[in-house]
Amino acid sequence: MTDPIDDSDAEEPTLFRDIVAFMAAKKVSTKCPACGSASWDLIGTEDAENSLWPVIPTRGLTVDGNTTRMASRVIIAECNNCGFLRFHSYRTFEKWKAQKNKEGASKEIADE
Ligand SMILES: [Zn+2]
Repeated sequence: MTDPIDDSDAEEPTLFRDIVAFMAAKKVSTKCPACGSASWDLIGTEDAENSLWPVIPTRGLTVDGNTTRMASRVIIAECNNCGFLRFHSYRTFEKWKAQKNKEGASKEIADE
């Protein structure tokens, strides 16, 4: 995430690129709150054969008192200078992406 707006790298995975676009659209600060660096990496991998993104494991409680395992998908950005970690909800990213796709589809229909 060193250069969040640069789309010139065609080899960059789609999900990674979308997350960077999401953060730019939401005006997420590129400045690390711990050290002030503006160099970040996302924790996760994505390529043609493999995609691995983090989850936070937790437990849920049903209405009848049973617990169940749950996992929340998260976007984790790591400061390349000091290792500070910050978390963003993957759900919020998905909502943004769905809205963006909906707007894109509406625009395509309007352009016809
Ligand atoms: Zn830092």
